[in-house]
Amino acid sequence: MQPVITDPAGAALEGIDLSKLAQLAQKIDLPALLNAASGMNEGQLRQLSTLLAGGGKRPRELPAPHGDFYDLMGTLSQHQRDVAARVRQFMETEVAPIMNEYWSRDEFPQQLIPKMRELNLMREIWNDDGTRTPDASVTEGVIIMEMCRVDVSTAVFFGVHAGLALASVALGGSEAQKAELMPKLLNLELVGAFGLTEPEGGSQVSRGLHTTAMRDGDAWVLNGEKKWIGNSTFSDLTVIWARDVADDQVKGFLVRKGTPGFKVEKIQGKIALRLVENGHITLTDCRVQEIDRLQNANSFRTTADVLRLTRAGVAWQGVGCAMGAYELALKYAQTRVQFGKKIGEFQLIQNHLVHMLGNLTAMQTLCLRLSVMEDAGTMKDEHAALAKVVTAARCRETVALARETFGGNGILLEYGVAKHFCDTEAIYSYEGTNEINTLVVGRAVSGLSAFV
Ligand SMILES: Cc1cc2nc3c(=O)[nH]c(=O)nc-3n(C[C@H](O)[C@H](O)[C@H](O)COP(=O)(O)OP(=O)(O)OC[C@H]3O[C@@H](n4cnc5c(N)ncnc54)[C@H](O)[C@@H]3O)c2cc1C
Repeated sequence: MQPVITDPAGAALEGIDLSKLAQLAQKIDLPALLNAASGMNEGQLRQLSTLLAGGGKRPRELPAPHGDFYDLMGTLSQHQRDVAARVRQFMETEVAPIMNEYWSRDEFPQQLIPKMRELNLMREIWNDDGTRTPDASVTEGVIIMEMCRVDVSTAVFFGVHAGLALASVALGGSEAQKAELMPKLLNLELVGAFGLTEPEGGSQVSRGLHTTAMRDGDAWVLNGEKKWIGNSTFSDLTVIWARDVADDQVKGFLVRKGTPGFKVEKIQGKIALRLVENGHITLTDCRVQEIDRLQNANSFRTTADVLRLTRAGVAWQGVGCAMGAYELALKYAQTRVQFGKKIGEFQLIQNHLVHMLGNLTAMQTLCLRLSVMEDAGTMKDEHAALAKVVTAARCRETVALARETFGGNGILLEYGVAKHFCDTEAIYSYEGTNEINTLVVGRAVSGLSAFV
């Protein structure tokens, strides 16, 4: 309460909050200050009052970095927003604290698997019978974006399992195979991998696989090699695509963990996606029962259908990776001080930030539209290919600008941006390289094939 001034001398203090003055007197020697002030000229008094007011500048609260400038989230359903929030929390509380350690160890943190099971994300995309939920592509895209914002490797683990492996069973499996495997894959009781690429067959894989399958009674005998196969060092079920020597068609086989003749070596020394365990698989007279051949995958057409389903997801990886890098760079620009100023006050740094934001926003709107088309059944190969080309390139530019914003700290793992920078190199090359996806789009728009 304001003290009441009763004596005439005190009238001079009228309007002054004496209780605040009393609080101030506990912190500083008020009589000494008043004494000094009484001898000051007008200019000195003005300086003193500016000083007491906090140097004339109150610390301004800067906007929190937010990589959703055009309110993408606002266009989603409440349910999709809730899913995105669940993923964000999971990434920030479970993955972020351990990711750098596992990055350095070049290992996947398998303790995340039961936690991901609890998140139950697969059922946001797939139904038990192998069909997709009505808004599967948009939901999957947002899940992937939120994962990649923190760590692309986690999204790759998820994408290989929930996209490539699970989709192979969903599109290529018989009703009996789906009934057995879909619930287990959806619950992450079984972890899946997808073995298509070979040491000699990357981009040209559709033109012929070297891995062979030969029928032998009730079984098939597989021989060959597969390279780069994500999750395969610990997967329970690896889909192996092999050429049937009898009819020359590509068929899918479910190779279960521990099958004799199935050997996996972890690929060492990657500079990107170091939490993902990529295996080099050798198949030596590996016997797979006929009941474990994907019954509805009788040509490369099914393999291509699976890849088409997942390509949009890879475009979303670029979005999330760029989003994470942009937010980190903005935060750094708001706090790092050089030449007595926050580096975000420099025009050249603002140019980086706006360039990154422009890329990111364009990528988000492109991918959202792509996924809407995919959910509506109107997306064609060339639509997905264009999104992959554009997002991978824009992501590469964005993470480079983000890394640059950090100066030397940009190459240190602990500052976060270096991981995004490296991971982008893998995004750029898998699920169809930039060149191959460009050729797909070029052929579609010109009607002329430039493939050789
Ligand atoms: C981290 C990572 C994870 C992966 N995970 C999996 C997985 O889980 N399962 C799986 O099966 N595969 C996986 N892959 C493989 C991936 O799909 C291939 O790396 C990709 O298809 C490219 O093949 P390649 O690496 O053999 O390159 P290549 O095909 O040898 O290409 C080399 C270069 O030549 C260019 N090129 C090739 N052909 C043409 C042409 N006709 N015209 C113009 N340019 C051309 C390419 O664009 C590229 O720049 C993964 C790869 C990586 C890096």
